[in-house]
Amino acid sequence: VRMCPVQVDEIWKELLPIIENEAILHNTEVRFQVENPSLPRVKADKELLKQVFLNLCKNGIEAMGDGGILTIRLFAMTDRKELAIEVWDTGPGIPPHAAEKIFDPFFTTKEHGTGLGLSVCKRILQDIGGRVEFSSLEDGTAFTVHIPVMED
Ligand code: ADP
Ligand code: MG
Repeated sequence: VRMCPVQVDEIWKELLPIIENEAILHNTEVRFQVENPSLPRVKADKELLKQVFLNLCKNGIEAMGDGGILTIRLFAMTDRKELAIEVWDTGPGIPPHAAEKIFDPFFTTKEHGTGLGLSVCKRILQDIGGRVEFSSLEDGTAFTVHIPVMED
């Protein structure tokens, strides 16, 4: 893990074209919103963070199958101690029986899934002092990543 000061909106500039490409193949609309005029930097490993965001976006797009809207929101928590990155989809949601297992390595409901995406996300965020949470209903799922802001 190589921790550096990271401007998370910069990461997304590099990531969005890749996600847009994936989305086009699924007829999915991508919306990207930065809620604060300036976002605080975080201390993290940039390449590992990219992997986290890519995994969450791919899962969202895959969950919707064809169509749907993937919304990405970046915002500072009100105390500005954490940065939040929310990735939400308008897919079918996560059924309760699956919800408790989705972060387990090798748990997948996909024919060709590895079941490693979310367990890797969780591990990476643990390593940088962050976390990932989700909430899911029948009309969509939101994964929210929290990363501690850099103190300066
Ligand atoms: P994989 O994508 O290879 O299946 P993941 O660890 O990325 O592995 O995800 C594990 C499982 O969690 C998925 O197979 C799916 O059942 C569920 N899941 C993850 N993200 C979503 C989502 N956005 N909507 C619905 N289910 C999801
Ligand atoms: Mg996945």
